[in-house]
Amino acid sequence: MKYLVLLLIVLGGIWWIRQQRKPDQATTQKPGPQVMVPCAHCGTHVPEGDAVRGGKGMYCSAGHRDRHEG
Ligand SMILES: [Zn+2]
Repeated sequence: MKYLVLLLIVLGGIWWIRQQRKPDQATTQKPGPQVMVPCAHCGTHVPEGDAVRGGKGMYCSAGHRDRHEG
């Protein structure tokens, strides 16, 4: 009976370690530091992935792109 309890503790520990590691693996899929680009209208720096691409540059939002490019 002692060994059964020990086995359950070991299995529980392995399961717990796996649960802890899962989020790390998800975050490492993202590329390292994000490139920040300034909005051509207001100058606010936004991550390149979130920036709105316009004909005259990058913008923080579609609203600023429309205002700047008329
Ligand atoms: Zn802006």
